[in-house]
Amino acid sequence: MLVGKIPWQGVLLSVQPRIRLTRSFDQRSHTYLGYALKVSGRIGSEAREFLVGVGQGAHTKHHFRAGNAVSGDALPVPDPRLETVEFYKVSNLKVGLPEPEDEATPPPWRGAPPPLAVYRERGHRRLAARTFQQKCWSCVWGCRMPVEMIIDQWNPSRRRYRTETFCYGPLSCPLYQSGPVRTVPGRRRGMTYTEEGWVDDEATSHRRPEE
Ligand code: SF4
Repeated sequence: MLVGKIPWQGVLLSVQPRIRLTRSFDQRSHTYLGYALKVSGRIGSEAREFLVGVGQGAHTKHHFRAGNAVSGDALPVPDPRLETVEFYKVSNLKVGLPEPEDEATPPPWRGAPPPLAVYRERGHRRLAARTFQQKCWSCVWGCRMPVEMIIDQWNPSRRRYRTETFCYGPLSCPLYQSGPVRTVPGRRRGMTYTEEGWVDDEATSHRRPEE
């Protein structure tokens, strides 16, 4: 069935990067999709919080930040395993000026997130899911990624899906909690890759603690 675009409107609660992670045992790669807008408002006839995905071009033009009044039309994502946003392909986008809000001292960092190239250059550390949910959901350095795991590279149809949370923020952030190490299933039964802490160290060691 062909689903038409759904009108939505509301106020931005947070803006975070929209990045997909592909894992194949000890290999990983990122797809930089754009930004995830967390909106409190109406989607169709429903009043609730929801997540809308936009591209780098829209962010370069509008500099989305928490507090903006936003509206548009969007499609539901066809495969929710590949996205953490619920809606995408936004058209008719309108963005108002941010409502004045008390600029709380970071962390978490709010305001307009940097270009995706900055996230790529900074690299990330794993972030505990609970810390993300409680403290980092509104930080421009936090990211909840959809993860696609290719279990068998000789049989690419064998895939599994989950989400993982990451921090691109300063290494000295006092809110940071790594959470448990992550494992990736392999081709044969009992084969598991464990992503140890040195992977995070390697991805972020070019930054000083306060960067
Ligand atoms: S831990 Fe990372 S995502 Fe969370 S507030 Fe600190 S910098 Fe932001």
